[in-house]
Amino acid sequence: MLIIKDIDSLRAYREKLDVSLGFVPTMGALHAGHASLVQKALEISDEVICSVFVNPTQFNDAQDLQNYPRTFESDAEMLEALGCHALFAPKVEHIYPKDHEPVRIDIGALGDVMEGAHRPGHFDGVVEVVARLFDLVQPDKAFFGEKDFQQLAVIRKLVHQKEYPIEIVPCPTVRESHGLAMSSRNERLSPDDRQYAAILHDTMMEMREMCQWMNPDEVAAWGRDELGAEERIELEYVEVMDAKELQPLFRWKEAESVRAFVAAHIGGVRLIDNLSLPSV
Ligand code: AMP
Repeated sequence: MLIIKDIDSLRAYREKLDVSLGFVPTMGALHAGHASLVQKALEISDEVICSVFVNPTQFNDAQDLQNYPRTFESDAEMLEALGCHALFAPKVEHIYPKDHEPVRIDIGALGDVMEGAHRPGHFDGVVEVVARLFDLVQPDKAFFGEKDFQQLAVIRKLVHQKEYPIEIVPCPTVRESHGLAMSSRNERLSPDDRQYAAILHDTMMEMREMCQWMNPDEVAAWGRDELGAEERIELEYVEVMDAKELQPLFRWKEAESVRAFVAAHIGGVRLIDNLSLPSV
């Protein structure tokens, strides 16, 4: 596997390629969720490049950025074992040279809900880094996890508004055996909290059942009550949203597909997850 650490080497690599290129952007501390994206990319692209870059502009909390796990050696080993062809691991000054103009798009109402509302500036940072990476890597397809469902919607907006000739491929959430969505942040949970954190997924599974009896806003309120009553949880939000528009809904028939979303702190670690609901 080729390890590319600067822009000139990336350009040289890109210029020589004449086959379809799949791209998996990550912030490293790779786990089986990331591996599933790389595997999907290998299935439907001739060549696959993964990036590892902890993007400072998408962190609205300096402590969170500082605590973010960095495990470059084992990341490179995992990618090599998967058969990934190239790893792009730039430095902050490569992605953000002094004179760079940040790309901004209008994400509309996506900025007003959930991650948009709770992490001010977060999606500006995501758009900025993904646009820069797309410009540099110029992939044919790019792979993103449904674990970050709202981010996926923001990336689709970016591609649409900037007319990138890139196909966005969504990939299902990979979970630990007890249901907790895999996340680089899980490494910061104590073993006990890591077991306990499956409650987020368990509660959304119960919300699935509740759909038979309640309207969408009532299901969201039910989930909020359940998780809000837990002493070990500092809850940010529980929502039931139209999966396309990512806006709250009040009647099941208002949307073709519906999803539950949750964000909560457990043991000082911020976790997010989401799950499809039956639209009854
Ligand atoms: P991150 O390194 O957390 O920025 O994630 C990089 C990519 O991996 C994003 O597209 C995430 O949505 C995706 N991802 C993270 N965790 C998972 C998971 N458990 N299952 C599937 N995709 C994931």
